[in-house]
Amino acid sequence: MAAFNTLVDVDRLWQDIMALADITEPGKPYTRRSFTPRFLAGRAYLIEQFKAAGLEVRIDTAGNLIGRRTGAKPHAKTIMMGSHSDTVPSGGRFDGIAGVVAALEVARALRDAGIELQHNLEVVDFLAEEPSEYGLSCVGSRGMSGQLTNAMLDFTGPQDERLGDALIRVGGNPVKLPEAIRKDDIAAYLELHIEQGPVLEQSKTDLGLVTGIVGITRLEIAFQGAADHAGTTPMHMRRDALYAAAQAVTAIREQAEALASEPDGYFVATVGILTLEPGGANVVPEQAKVIVDIRTGKREKTLRFLESIDAATQDAAEKARVERSSFKTLSDTMPMDCDLGLLDDLAKSADALGHSHLQLASGAGHDAAFIGQLAPAAMVFVPCLGGRSHTPEEWAEKHDIAAGAAAMFAAVRRFDERTPVTNQTHNSI
Ligand SMILES: [Zn+2]
Repeated sequence: MAAFNTLVDVDRLWQDIMALADITEPGKPYTRRSFTPRFLAGRAYLIEQFKAAGLEVRIDTAGNLIGRRTGAKPHAKTIMMGSHSDTVPSGGRFDGIAGVVAALEVARALRDAGIELQHNLEVVDFLAEEPSEYGLSCVGSRGMSGQLTNAMLDFTGPQDERLGDALIRVGGNPVKLPEAIRKDDIAAYLELHIEQGPVLEQSKTDLGLVTGIVGITRLEIAFQGAADHAGTTPMHMRRDALYAAAQAVTAIREQAEALASEPDGYFVATVGILTLEPGGANVVPEQAKVIVDIRTGKREKTLRFLESIDAATQDAAEKARVERSSFKTLSDTMPMDCDLGLLDDLAKSADALGHSHLQLASGAGHDAAFIGQLAPAAMVFVPCLGGRSHTPEEWAEKHDIAAGAAAMFAAVRRFDERTPVTNQTHNSI
């Protein structure tokens, strides 16, 4: 199995990453925002490379760029690999891009070695994984999993352009969106991504095998008190909204630490927004609002957290003699568990290649969270410098990315060999 390692061409993979890095807004590296001409230039480069790799290229109606290689068995399902080529403003060269290029390199390595798979193979550049100017992230993977709604297509961006119209500009077709939905023709989905966190680097581990992708819940809590004079209102008569909010923030932190210390699974909660009204040095705060970002792989933990914070914030309001004017969920996505069989394929592949690995949960969202609802899915993380991402300083070593690609290459072969080819009933293509 060690010979697999040599089939992934480190320099070819690196050359693609650097070529895409050059396709950036000048003076604002590294920026290739979805739906922009720069994004389309990046895609033109990818299309050229997909074709050179012998892949059949198309753009589905949800705007995903797909390169396909037909398998040996007719009616076989498809092994899909991918990620995204769009960036955040002034982002990095590796977030998403490493995954698209690694997937492409796996396809090239298979072709170079003359290896025919039973299954079809697809390399996908998902449209707009990063939050777009249209107020939506994961546009393409939502579309492929049937979760891009008409209401979302009406979201507007620059010059009041509808997302649905922007989709046409990148080769999609909002009217025929259901054609992009893949019901049951995906056998497996694999995605390589930089970790965007410090665990692999600090533990000096080559690869992270992702056990699941967190569900993300955003909660709004608001308190309504009274704006009174800071000099003349006695302490026992105040209705200070911030006093309640401060207790809420403390309760959120303490409850999150308690849940995080439980052995089974990841839990984090963050108060990243606190707003105060009217905001005067000599005025008792009348209104305070906090937005809480809650992430965990275990839905049950989110529900316990919400219950506990509900009780704590009611107590806080009572103690501060204010009203709890809002306690509502702003958005809510479900966690996704990675497939144990695919994780085993990746672990055995990494072992055979001599790459160390550990299991970890993904605290960030990825296209795999959507595609994992259609098919068994798994992700492999590679270390990144200082755990930093979404910044021009984002960096991953070429041999680390190649190690991840090699593990994915071997895992694709293991999966293909161990999985009997069954006839698919529908194929949306
Ligand atoms: Zn990404």
